[in-house]
Amino acid sequence: MTILKKRKTRAQRSRPFRCPHCGAAMILRPAAEIYRDCQNDRKLYVCHNYPACNTYVAAHPGTNQPMGVPANGDLRNLRIQAHRKFDRIWQTGIMTRENAYRWFADSFGLSLKDAHIGMCSEYRCKELIRLCDEVLARNHRVA
Ligand SMILES: [Zn+2]
Repeated sequence: MTILKKRKTRAQRSRPFRCPHCGAAMILRPAAEIYRDCQNDRKLYVCHNYPACNTYVAAHPGTNQPMGVPANGDLRNLRIQAHRKFDRIWQTGIMTRENAYRWFADSFGLSLKDAHIGMCSEYRCKELIRLCDEVLARNHRVA
């Protein structure tokens, strides 16, 4: 039992981090290699097939843990759109920021710690945009 448990832990730790779009390994690289004008020493997990596969995610400074789920260009744009819509809900005072995140979490059956647009798939981004449009329309705010 103990051996089994140890093996599982080791396997989990060494499990390669894969690109969700093409399945290639994600490689930790300096952000400056991707953003030419990058002045800081931040790092990104970049798809091994970059730039053919334009998928990456930022790494937390210090821990190198990925900040959310890697995204390609289309998903990055969708997350930006979803964030704009979502931010309007609390910026226009329809809900407080805290309540807006609670509403977001409840709408998708997520815990509050998982209610982050940076973790949203394409489907969830589109659903969130649709839900935000409904709330904004009901409150007579331009979406
Ligand atoms: Zn890829």
